[in-house]
Amino acid sequence: MAKKNKRIEQSDICIGCGICVSICPVNTKLEKKDEFDPDDAQLAIKVYSGKAVLDEETCIACGACARICPVESLTIIEIPSE
Ligand code: SF4
Ligand code: SF4
Repeated sequence: MAKKNKRIEQSDICIGCGICVSICPVNTKLEKKDEFDPDDAQLAIKVYSGKAVLDEETCIACGACARICPVESLTIIEIPSE
């Protein structure tokens, strides 16, 4: 996979609404698979114990979640090139 030049930073103001989980393109792609199992799938973002949790491995840092979050809990961070 190409090196990401962005990452998503989380904060603790998340209200656990789950909007980010439902619009994440990585998640929606996984959900379309016949063998999709929500407990097992490596979702890029999910709500756990009332807060959104990002998976750095699968998140492609597209920023869609950060743009839609109603409380601006997620921030797109540019990673400076080396
Ligand atoms: S930045 Fe990551 S978690 Fe957020 S919508 Fe894009 S792939 Fe999903
Ligand atoms: S990060 Fe934002 S959109 Fe995602 S569950 Fe938390 S409050 Fe909702």
